[in-house]
Amino acid sequence: MPAAAATRLDETTEGSLDSALERVFGFHDFRPGQREIVEALLAGEDLLAVMPTGGGKSLCYQLPAVMKPGLTLVVSPLIALMDNQVAQLRLLGVEAAAVHSGVDRGERARIWQSIKEGRLKLLYLSPELLGTERLQAALDRLPITQIIVDEVHCVSQWGHDFRPDYRNLAALPGRYPGACVAGFTATADRVTREDITNELFKDRHARVFVHGFDRPNIKLTVMEKDRPERQLLDILARFPGQQGIVYRLARKATEETAGNLEAAGHRAVAYHAGLDGSLRKELLDRFLTEPDLIVVATIAFGMGIDKPDIRFVVHLDLPGNLEAYYQEIGRAGRDGNPAEAIMLYGFDDIRRRRWLIENGTASDAQKRVEHRRLDALLAFTETSGCRKQALLGYFGEAPPPCGACDRCLEPPELSDATGLAQALLGAIRATDTRFGQAHLLDVLTGEQTAKVAQFGHDRLEVFGAARGMDKRVLRNAVRQLYASGVIEVDIAGHGALRPGRKAAAIVAGEETIALDLTAPRKKPGKARKGASGASQAAASLDAADAGLLRALKALRLEIAREIDKPAYVVFSDATLNDMAQKRPADQAGFLAVDGVGETKRSLYGERFIAAIRDFTG
Ligand code: ADP
Ligand code: ZN
Repeated sequence: MPAAAATRLDETTEGSLDSALERVFGFHDFRPGQREIVEALLAGEDLLAVMPTGGGKSLCYQLPAVMKPGLTLVVSPLIALMDNQVAQLRLLGVEAAAVHSGVDRGERARIWQSIKEGRLKLLYLSPELLGTERLQAALDRLPITQIIVDEVHCVSQWGHDFRPDYRNLAALPGRYPGACVAGFTATADRVTREDITNELFKDRHARVFVHGFDRPNIKLTVMEKDRPERQLLDILARFPGQQGIVYRLARKATEETAGNLEAAGHRAVAYHAGLDGSLRKELLDRFLTEPDLIVVATIAFGMGIDKPDIRFVVHLDLPGNLEAYYQEIGRAGRDGNPAEAIMLYGFDDIRRRRWLIENGTASDAQKRVEHRRLDALLAFTETSGCRKQALLGYFGEAPPPCGACDRCLEPPELSDATGLAQALLGAIRATDTRFGQAHLLDVLTGEQTAKVAQFGHDRLEVFGAARGMDKRVLRNAVRQLYASGVIEVDIAGHGALRPGRKAAAIVAGEETIALDLTAPRKKPGKARKGASGASQAAASLDAADAGLLRALKALRLEIAREIDKPAYVVFSDATLNDMAQKRPADQAGFLAVDGVGETKRSLYGERFIAAIRDFTG
């Protein structure tokens, strides 16, 4: 649309946009992509915006909703998220309300009244209500200027979350020709985007904004799994008092790990699908409100976790595939502050995942697809290059090296391991593909174990072929050979090794293979002090600031309990950090804190300023 409208915006509203951002939200800058979308909506354009989770989608339509005359409808699929958004907006001094099945008649009457009086700026609605004629008739009389569809990929049958209720939305653009329609989502590939455009916008032209999948504040690390529980404690030592999720594959494992964490003095709970519904809801509530609770969970802990200040996601077991991995780590760092995703994985993880695929109920064709997806994940875990490049490459992007992942910080030293691979394959063949990794490595290193003696394997040509090599280096090599298809594992039986699809070429000397044969680092991730974003942020606060920060967090929790909302609804971690550093002594200083707008200043300024004064004495 209208270049004219856009030009007009450039000239007149640029300054007022920034000041509205500051006044209402207390933010000093837009995040990447936000400004263009806000401007397009102010100009009345239809649009589809694909932005990564945590990219700041809500602000893109909330700011225009505040600045424009009339009412903005927001369709959103999850009631809890709607309610939290409304609570956040009210604390910003913006009149907002939600209508869904959980809202009683009295409350509805009050909402309609405030719409009539022209006070309400945003009305959140569940998609199923939109299908009712009664509600539509009521909406027809309203001065609707924007219709926002959140999680718009639910419209598409191609998306993974198709919701039949979202089909009700297709009628909206026709019914409200004067309102602009905008869809927002974090996940929509090209096919889904086309489908959304056809379903929702039909013959109206919608501008498409796609902002990358990169989450630059999340640092990626993959470590060899050695003693996972011990390694986890080392990792957590870098996140004192901070919150995170630890993913495990099995229900029992979540309970064991949570128990170990508790024993080591952390606050941790286990979460999985075997727990009953009310307990799960209670745990989720606790996770949202208790600032240092660690959840050790299976993938059952997922949908609906919208907490901005999760600082770490640790995978203690290999995730299912790269898309699942991306979604799971995507729960970290939604506030844009440094966060880390750390994965531990080893030989047995690969074997278990293959086993799960083979023993699942899927068709053979589907199993082949699952194996290929696992291969893609393994290519990521074993990559010698940048993790970000490997991950985003899978989603079709080609970013430059991130400079922050474990591979960028400490590139692996690859050396030719063709001879070693040939020796291992030789040992596998000479022992009739009947033995597992441990015994084969004993043979290669020339160890006189009882089993070696029993089978006379010390007489094999390959006996002692890798004498003197560190067993851990060898186990690592075996894992790398497994991940790259040089060997396979009999997953149904006792884990005997077999030649893989690439074995013949290696044995024939047609192909070479390079592996990382360096001794495993003791505590990877610690390698470079200060390299980790999260610990850097923590380090930049000195001890006094840290004490003040604790006091501010305690006050935030107190207020959150008073208004019965999650703590981040009051203030984000980023805002409290900034507050601890700026230490405002008066209202004007308080307003200068990032994330403090007019309304929150008047609501909470006094209490926080008093807390700072108490602390600084
Ligand atoms: P999304 O819906 O895209 O996952 P949100 O809208 O929930 O993301 O925003 C994520 C976090 O980023 C929130 O805490 C929000 O307050 C914060 N945020 C959004 N825009 C800005 C900005 N311009 N400056 C600072 N923080 C922002
Ligand atoms: Zn990198």
